[in-house]
Amino acid sequence: MTDLTKLTAVELAGLVADGQTSAVEVTRAHLDRIAAVDDRVNAFLHVDADGALAAARAVDERRAAGEELGPLAGVPVAVKDVLTTKGVPTTVGSKILEGWRPPYDATIVQRLRAAGTVLLGKTNMDEFAMGSSTEYSAYGPTRNPWDTDRIPGGSGGGSAAALAAYEAPLAIGSDTGGSIRQPGAVTGTVGAKPTYGGTSRYGLVAFSSSLDTPGPCARTVLDAALLHAAIGGHDPRDSTSVPQPVPDVVAAARLGATGDLTGVKLGVVTEFSGEGAEPGVAAAFRDSVDALAKLGAEIVEVSCPHFTYALPAYYLIAPSECSSNLARFDGVRFGLREGDDGNRSLEEVMSLTRDAGFGPEVKRRIMLGTYALSSGYYDAYYGQAQKVRTLITRDFTAAFERVDALISPTTPFVAFPIGARTSDPYQMYLADLYTIPTNLYGGPGISVPCGLSEGLPVGLQVMAPTMADDRMYRVAAALESAVGTFTPPAL
Ligand code: GLN
Repeated sequence: MTDLTKLTAVELAGLVADGQTSAVEVTRAHLDRIAAVDDRVNAFLHVDADGALAAARAVDERRAAGEELGPLAGVPVAVKDVLTTKGVPTTVGSKILEGWRPPYDATIVQRLRAAGTVLLGKTNMDEFAMGSSTEYSAYGPTRNPWDTDRIPGGSGGGSAAALAAYEAPLAIGSDTGGSIRQPGAVTGTVGAKPTYGGTSRYGLVAFSSSLDTPGPCARTVLDAALLHAAIGGHDPRDSTSVPQPVPDVVAAARLGATGDLTGVKLGVVTEFSGEGAEPGVAAAFRDSVDALAKLGAEIVEVSCPHFTYALPAYYLIAPSECSSNLARFDGVRFGLREGDDGNRSLEEVMSLTRDAGFGPEVKRRIMLGTYALSSGYYDAYYGQAQKVRTLITRDFTAAFERVDALISPTTPFVAFPIGARTSDPYQMYLADLYTIPTNLYGGPGISVPCGLSEGLPVGLQVMAPTMADDRMYRVAAALESAVGTFTPPAL
């Protein structure tokens, strides 16, 4: 019998639509897989078995009634615990929201339900999406299915690990500085950060509102494109949502899969090629550039001189926005309340609650951001960083006058051992060296598996102009057709 957990979303939806299997069977197979392996992976913070089976039964009933089903109907999906799910616990990986059951669904969750996908549960993440390894989750680290002594990337390590461990064929992540793409790269899966505003932030617990972008994670480029199409598009409830349809990412992925990139001009980012990356990562990247050239792409070098300032600028802008956004966790409105014994002042209870509820990295970001925004320092730190952001955007604009898309490795290094980078925050921040410029600019970026280094996956990043998300899918799918997909050793 076919192992349903090994199939792609496209294959699963096809089997369900043809009546060769049911959505309930598909869902059961994935719930069984979670039960069998998740004690070793810890990808899930909450599994909603009853909700998933009820949603699957509804899809089977609609099919039996002869209703037309969408392209992802009956396919299970794991959702990063940063998106609100009505009545289903949402913690953002933090103790401060432990036990909170939101009264509403995020727009993306609503759209997943409307598409007939089956929500399996909520995935582990670095607390408030701050981190690159999922070690900063208040609920224990997620482990990389390729080697359970290593990290699965972060902050969306749970979503990526769930895919690599065959616990789910599709997952949702959020990318503020790389949290979809970097976990994708180090787990051998596909992760796409859509154009900022191309996917709704309504119901996404805010970290850095000018950067936060929810997006699709999958094991193949086409699956990611189908998920992107299902969740993307204008949302009047998000004031920064782009009032335009998502470009046809599915058609672009199918076009790319033909393996022909004739007429496509790709720019290798000079500042991110070679130096800074581990030798094995640099080698896999160079081989992939050759593979893209063989598919017909024209390859040129493009210098983006300000990209090297992206990391420091990000670590002023993101903490500044975080310090403001996280002020709402005050022990009054939702989640944890500490020390409210009737004798303490409101300020004391707030302070005790925030001290007990936030972990060390979140506190560090709040302090950094508060400092960067404080009077007398605002212009020197936050203001300067905003100017750098403009320069980075200009680098992208100039590059896209010359090339259709930019490429680089997704990360400088492969999955590192658990514990290797937790004592020095800067070493952890370096994981996003190559992904952050895209967030500061607002354009789309995708990570696609491109090879192995010492038996561990390496990702290639494709960056495209804003609202040209289709271009990155075409290039990624073409590379996938040449190098194939990567399967971890059995757990
Ligand atoms: N690792 C980066 C950070 O810690 C990016 C996180 C993200 O994209 N959510 O801020």
